[in-house]
Amino acid sequence: MRVYLDNNATTKIDPLVKVKMMPFLEELYGNPNSLHKYGMEVRPALNQALGEMYDALNVPDEDDIIITSCATESNNSVLKGLFFKHILTNPYKNHIITTSVEHPSILETLLFLSENGMDVTYVDVDENGGISAEDMMRAVTENTLLISMMWANNETGMIFPVEEVSAFAKEKGILFHTDAVQAIGKVHVDLSKVHVDYLTFSAHKFHGPKGIGGLYVKKGKELPNLLHGGEQMGGKRAGTLNVAYIVGMGLAMKQAVNHVTKMNTDVRRLRDKLEDAISKIPDTIVVGKREMRTPNTILISIRGVEGESMLWDLNRAGIAASTGSACASESLHANPVMSAIGEDPELAHTAMRLSLSRYTTEEEVDYVIEIFTKAVERLRSISCTYSYTNEVA
Ligand code: PLP
Repeated sequence: MRVYLDNNATTKIDPLVKVKMMPFLEELYGNPNSLHKYGMEVRPALNQALGEMYDALNVPDEDDIIITSCATESNNSVLKGLFFKHILTNPYKNHIITTSVEHPSILETLLFLSENGMDVTYVDVDENGGISAEDMMRAVTENTLLISMMWANNETGMIFPVEEVSAFAKEKGILFHTDAVQAIGKVHVDLSKVHVDYLTFSAHKFHGPKGIGGLYVKKGKELPNLLHGGEQMGGKRAGTLNVAYIVGMGLAMKQAVNHVTKMNTDVRRLRDKLEDAISKIPDTIVVGKREMRTPNTILISIRGVEGESMLWDLNRAGIAASTGSACASESLHANPVMSAIGEDPELAHTAMRLSLSRYTTEEEVDYVIEIFTKAVERLRSISCTYSYTNEVA
């Protein structure tokens, strides 16, 4: 049996999305900016896809959605765009507040910009992996230009207080950006109710294709163009449009929003079943209260069992899980969010992330429970033997 429980890293494509994309990889290959029939015949699908994205976020089309190549590009665009627009011209407004557990596409970009005059405050998570709205608000100074806070964390699934902090930002005249990559399709992301100036999303996290993402920009909060060239996207991002992927992202986003209820009932029930079973294993710690997390995610530490060893045992049994962000998994090191939460280094080295999707079945969860428990027993017995052998030696 093969079971995929790494849906926070990427997801399988929705079959309907694939079917919708195919004609644009075959006969409908025109460039939408061309004036001939080939170009014109793909434009309605492009407009429909953009319409689906506006509807999914519940925003009017007078706001903007800039299509990007991924969430990493969207996050870079908003931070570097604001740097060019504001900080270069008014170094006084150079302060940005974020959390210490953002995705590397935020943290590394801020590191780069802070070497060039940006002043960044990183607000820490509490012992549950949560962020306090008060801590975010307390960090504001008269120089604060932007608050950038993810909607939900990729490792723990913890949902951050976006509604409260963004309302505060609006009141103070501070710009607000959220990386909503892990929230779309898992919680309600309704921008008619929550004040957001910029929002990042990525199709491959909600059963769309990889290599395509978006940046929502509220009307009046325009950013300078970072990719200069042609006049695509109204001159806001040059480069020939990837029609097939945009069409796929539109439908995938619509489908994701339509499945939020299923995620919060059926998938949540399966996640809770899995969590209940594996947290019965002695000396396990699950991060964050369930009600505060996205319905598909578990981050668990099993004392005495190295995350990577566990990963390989599960992998041998056909189960895909993760020890941390896929962007960091080429170098085998501690889970960064677990490191930020606890002082005990063992927790970070024994962390495992299990993330379900709307395609996860009960049969799969039962299989994972069986294999997981056996793997922990096996690995614990090995480490006992080692320490015993060492002692004797
Ligand atoms: N932001 C978050 C919260 C993520 O989880 C990820 C991917 O793991 C990204 C950004 C980057 O997404 P992409 O692969 O589309 O660049």
